[in-house]
Amino acid sequence: MNGIMESQIDLKVLGIKFQSENYCFRDDGFVEDIHAHARKVNQEFGDDPASYDLEVSLNEKLPLVGGLTRVRNASQPIPVIICYYHQDSPLKEIFVRGHEETHALQEMGRLHLLQERLVALRLKIDIGAYSDNELIADIGGLYAVIKHGFPSLLIMPFLDKEGKDKILEFYLEFLGSKNPV
Ligand SMILES: [Zn+2]
Repeated sequence: MNGIMESQIDLKVLGIKFQSENYCFRDDGFVEDIHAHARKVNQEFGDDPASYDLEVSLNEKLPLVGGLTRVRNASQPIPVIICYYHQDSPLKEIFVRGHEETHALQEMGRLHLLQERLVALRLKIDIGAYSDNELIADIGGLYAVIKHGFPSLLIMPFLDKEGKDKILEFYLEFLGSKNPV
């Protein structure tokens, strides 16, 4: 016994589980108001809830999100918390949850676990080749919708503008690999 507590990390939509000494993960699920929830999480972290509003004012993309991932680096173990909005279809909900779980996975330094799943699904995507965190999270969203058996092209209107073409390319390549000419 070395006295170090391990916690079980369970990313339900990605279907990824692992033990961690350095992180604890919490999925707060669907919330009514992401911003109100984020202020509460800040308070739980011991921060001024208003510091979240400052963050929002500095980040013009934040108000448009379908979900949110919060991390408190100064704590030990480091808490990683996700929450998200209900969407108008089960497919979008799987996508948004897969997206946030991927942000969480990246925060915890375990993107290689998603990479292994992509390879297993024969999705030819090298996550390490990308530096845009939103694109990386969308790759996790795409993985989640394919894993859960949805017709993934329906996620297109929902994607980040910059990442859209890349995700579409990955998906078409995936379909092509399943139905060789
Ligand atoms: Zn994101």
